[in-house]
Amino acid sequence: MPLQFDNRFINELPGDPETGPRRRQVEAAAWSSVTPTPVAAPRLLAWSHEMAAELGFDPAQIASQEFAELMAGNRLLPDMQPYAANYGGHQFGNWAGQLGDGRAISLGEVIAASGKRWELQLKGAGPTPYSRTADGRAVLRSSIREFLCSEAMHHLGIPTTRALSLVASGEPVVRDMFYDGHPRPEPGAIVCRVAPSFLRFGNFELPASRNDLALLRQLVEFCIDRDYPQLQGQGEALYGQWFEQICIRTAQMIAGWMRVGFVHGVMNTDNMSVLGLTIDYGPYGWIDDYDPEWTPNTTDAGGRRYRFGWQSRVAYWNLGRLAQALSLLFTDVAPLQRGLEAYVSHWDRAERDNVAGKLGIDMAGPRDMAAMQRLQDLLQAGEVDMTLFFRALIQVQADEAPDLAAELELFQPAFYDPDKRDAIASDLQQWLQAYRQRLRDDALESAQRQQKMRQANPKYVLRNYLAQQVIDRAEQGDVSGIGELLEVMRNPYQEQPGREAFAQRRPDWARDKAGCSM
Ligand code: AMP
Ligand code: MG
Ligand code: MG
Repeated sequence: MPLQFDNRFINELPGDPETGPRRRQVEAAAWSSVTPTPVAAPRLLAWSHEMAAELGFDPAQIASQEFAELMAGNRLLPDMQPYAANYGGHQFGNWAGQLGDGRAISLGEVIAASGKRWELQLKGAGPTPYSRTADGRAVLRSSIREFLCSEAMHHLGIPTTRALSLVASGEPVVRDMFYDGHPRPEPGAIVCRVAPSFLRFGNFELPASRNDLALLRQLVEFCIDRDYPQLQGQGEALYGQWFEQICIRTAQMIAGWMRVGFVHGVMNTDNMSVLGLTIDYGPYGWIDDYDPEWTPNTTDAGGRRYRFGWQSRVAYWNLGRLAQALSLLFTDVAPLQRGLEAYVSHWDRAERDNVAGKLGIDMAGPRDMAAMQRLQDLLQAGEVDMTLFFRALIQVQADEAPDLAAELELFQPAFYDPDKRDAIASDLQQWLQAYRQRLRDDALESAQRQQKMRQANPKYVLRNYLAQQVIDRAEQGDVSGIGELLEVMRNPYQEQPGREAFAQRRPDWARDKAGCSM
C-alpha cells in the first residue's frame, strides 16, 4: 500500500496511550490510543477516484480485499497509530462538556506525492474511550450520505472533509428506527474520511473549560505549525492572526453552503472545523423549494436553530465560543474581536459575490442585494425550486423584447404548486423586467454572464430524495446507485446529457422527508 505516514498529532501532543475501555473523563490529553474493532465481513461498496489517486492507490490495490480490510479497521499497517481525539462542544447553544470522538478513529497522517498532508479517519470502526454508552458504529444509510455528500461538496468547490471509501461491515447495527414497535437492525458501514486536519472548535473549548492552559496553548501552537504554516510571528499576535483566518475561512464556507442550498443541520461547535471545512455530515439536507426556515434536523424542530437562513449567524455565534475559549491565552481580547469583525466583513463580501454569481452581474451593489432579497421572498412565497430557478435564469435574454408569458415558461419546471405560481406570477414578471434592465446596464457581455452564472449555480445537487433512493436500493442489496450518483455529482455545474433525471424537482412523495441522522 502506498501510504507514507507522518503522525504528528499523536507524536507532538500529549495523549492517553492506554488503549482502554470506555472512560468518563480524559484529562490533560488531546487524544487516546484506541484500536479499531474488526468487523465480520468488510466489503468495499464505493470509493472516490480522485481521493484514491491523490493518495497513490492504483485500481488493483483498491480492488483488493486488503484495501477493504484496511478501510474497515480490520487490518492495520505498521506505521498506523490509531487514536480518537478528545474534544467537547456547545450543542444547540449549551456547553455539553467532553463529547468525543466516540466513533471516529484516526489511523494516522500521510504525506501524498503532491506533498499534501492528509489524515485518514474511520467513522464507525468501533467504540473509543469517548463512546459513553454508544456503540461506535455507523449505519449504512448515514454512511452513504456522508460518503456522497463530502465528495459532492468537494466537486461543488466548497471546502469539506473528503471521503476515500465506503465499506460495508457485514454486521447489523441497531438504531432508533422503529418497525412494528421494535428496533430495526440495519446494515452497518464504515467511511474512511480524509482531511488535512480534523481539529474542531471543540478541541480548543474542552481544555479551556478545564482551565488547562498548557494543553490549550499546545493545541494552538500545533495547529498553527501544522495547518497554518504560512502564518508568521509569535504569541498573541500570531494567535490573533490565526483566529482571524479561521473566521475568514468559516465565512467563505458558509457562503458556499448558501450559494448551493446546503443545510448542515447540526452546527454544534464540535462539528465546526478550524480549517473552515464542512465536517460531520449527519442530518444535513438540501433546499428544494427556497425556504430559509427549513431545517433537515427533526430533533431541532422546536428551536429551528439550524435552519438554512440562520447558518451565517450560527457560525458567528460558534466563532464567539471559540474566541471565548482562546481568550484565556490573551491579555487583551482586541485581536479576537478583530477576527470576529473579519468574519462579518468577509461574509458580506462573500454574500455579494454570491449574488453577483447567481444573477450574473459583474459586481453586486446595495440595490442588487435588495433585488436578490426581493427575489428570494418571491421564491419562498411561490414555493419555487432554488436550484432549478437559478439554472433557468441563465436563459433569460437581456435585450429581447420578451413575450412575458413565454418567459415564465422557462421557470415552469421549478414550480411545486400551480396556485402559488399563479400568485407570484405578476410580481415575478416585474422582477424579471427590472432584471433585464439591470443586465443591460451591466459590464458583462451576455456570454460572460451566462458563463459566470453556470459556475455559481449548480445544475446537479445531492437532493435528499436522490440520496434516499440510492440508500433504499443499497439496503435491498443493489449498491450500484452509489457510484452512479457520485458520477453525476462529480460535474455539478455542467450539462450532462442523458442525466436530466438527476436535475428534477423533488417528487411529491418525498415532500417533507428530512435528512436522516446518525
Ligand atoms: P454528533 O452529534 O454526531 O456530531 O456526535 C457527537 C459525539 O457523539 C461525537 O463524539 C460522536 O463521535 C459521538 N457519537 C455519535 N454517534 C455515536 C455512536 N453510535 N457511538 C459512539 N459515539 C457516537
Ligand atoms: Mg460530530
Ligand atoms: Mg418548505
